[in-house]
Amino acid sequence: MSENNSQYDVIVIGAGVAGLYQLFKLRQLKLKALVIEAGDNVGGTWYWNRYPGARFDSESWSYGYSFSKELFEEWDWPEHFAAQPDTLRYLNYVADKFDFRRDIKFDRRVEACVFDQQNNLWTVRTNMKEEYVARFLITALGPLSAFTLPNIEGRETFKGPAYHTARWPHEEVDFSGKRVGIIGTGACAIQTIQTIAKDVAHLTVFQRSPNWAAPLNNSVITEDEQKQIKQDFEKIFEQCRKTIACFIHDPDPRSTTDLTPDEREAFWEKLYKEPGFGIWIGNLKDILVDEQANKLMTEFAAKKIRERVNDPEIAKLLTPKNHGFGTRRLPLESGYYEVYNQENVLLVDLNETPITRITENGIKTSNQLYEFDLIIYATGFDGVTGPYDRIDIRTSTGRCLKDDWSDFPRTLFGMQAEGFPNMFMILGPHTSRGNIPRNIEEVVDWQTNLLEYTMSNGFTRVEPKSTSVDKWELQVQKASEGLLMSGVGSWQTGVNSNVPGRDKPRVLAYNGGAVKYRTVIQKVEANNYEEFFFA
Ligand code: NAP
Repeated sequence: MSENNSQYDVIVIGAGVAGLYQLFKLRQLKLKALVIEAGDNVGGTWYWNRYPGARFDSESWSYGYSFSKELFEEWDWPEHFAAQPDTLRYLNYVADKFDFRRDIKFDRRVEACVFDQQNNLWTVRTNMKEEYVARFLITALGPLSAFTLPNIEGRETFKGPAYHTARWPHEEVDFSGKRVGIIGTGACAIQTIQTIAKDVAHLTVFQRSPNWAAPLNNSVITEDEQKQIKQDFEKIFEQCRKTIACFIHDPDPRSTTDLTPDEREAFWEKLYKEPGFGIWIGNLKDILVDEQANKLMTEFAAKKIRERVNDPEIAKLLTPKNHGFGTRRLPLESGYYEVYNQENVLLVDLNETPITRITENGIKTSNQLYEFDLIIYATGFDGVTGPYDRIDIRTSTGRCLKDDWSDFPRTLFGMQAEGFPNMFMILGPHTSRGNIPRNIEEVVDWQTNLLEYTMSNGFTRVEPKSTSVDKWELQVQKASEGLLMSGVGSWQTGVNSNVPGRDKPRVLAYNGGAVKYRTVIQKVEANNYEEFFFA
């Protein structure tokens, strides 16, 4: 490429977990790379989502990068499920250790990317009116970066502070003596609610749909455990490579019918007391695919809510009716249900009394005005495709990604979009998802190899064949057949009531499991990428 300061081999959008690792790999190829980041520092998800109580529900030691044993050995996670400040500290440590920041431009948001069909170059424009040019574009946008505020009239009239969980202030928020209202009861809300309920004067939770949740069972990592974790470096990541979603957990090979009711109950009680996602991903193999099996597990989870919440009416309200246990991404909690036993916490059922507007003093429902000093929007994200819809990605011949994807994204392995050459996506729609850094490393390694293959063969252009995209689309659809989650609306299926046109579930991940996904993509690499056109 030319010596021009604004010309690069590769531009990466995003300096989160994915963008940083991608930069590491590009440097190994000695490419001229630029990372563009909207925040003023690294961290992505862990930079933006600083709300009280934000933390992992992957085991910390299975979440960190696996590409450097030295890094793994140097870093001590304080808890089995680390809090957001620790994760952000970790990512800053990584950025320092590998001197990543010198290739990152912070504080600018990419607004448009145009692919020049004639010269096979991407031009990237930011909100600072800058233009950068590169042969290749890599999107490390994160599936959950396009946060959404609720479409409620009068939102801007509220006089007090109002924060979305994904845009939490950097300064500490003082809750003492405050009347706080929170909208939403997803994973972010659950962590926020259970954390602030003890600090606020009063908390009102506005719930439209309850979610199933199970205990995180977090604990501090003792010195002995720390030593063991360091010794288990290979073992931990080997285990993650073997499992369906790259967590340490994998489904129990037994079905619900293999156990007597008493045995099932004992098994579920045991899982309920164990840390992490065992109760979701390490559960009996049929609970996420068989309605009857799911019903049994759902009844168990409902019973646990009744046991933990004193008021049976509140327990009923907190029990989901529109989806079975685990058919949405399961939030893990620490004392969430007990919060509703506190005198200073009120649960408002928005199905009974919907919000009619936000006023300067608070939130008005169909039957009363609730006055607040502070409002929290834990209203989620336009998942997976949302971050792509918010950048004007097009070709010089007028093809626009947002229009192309308005019904259903057309990708190859969730890494390349049909019709958009030289663009590589990290965790785009139709990749395998689970323990995110593990998925990221897999995809980044594979795409970097494809990039190397392209460049070392003197090609300036790579794009997926439409026939390959057709085949992948079929595989993606097939892998989701029979899964109870497929028809359930959530960010994972691209449903968001605050985004016009996003009211029906779509398949937005490859749900055949990480092992199968790896087999497919490795075969393509071994066959010299027959699924792609090179020029
Ligand atoms: P979410 O699960 O999509 O929850 C959004 C909540 O806001 C839902 O309860 C939704 O209700 C409600 N809502 C949205 N618009 C509303 C409106 N206009 N009026 C009333 N209620 C409204 O989003 P999230 O909590 O931000 O979590 C997203 C994902 O982030 C999680 O599933 C998880 O993958 C990830 N996450 C991970 C961690 C972790 O690793 N530990 C922690 C937090 C989050 P409806 O359901 O009725 O739409």
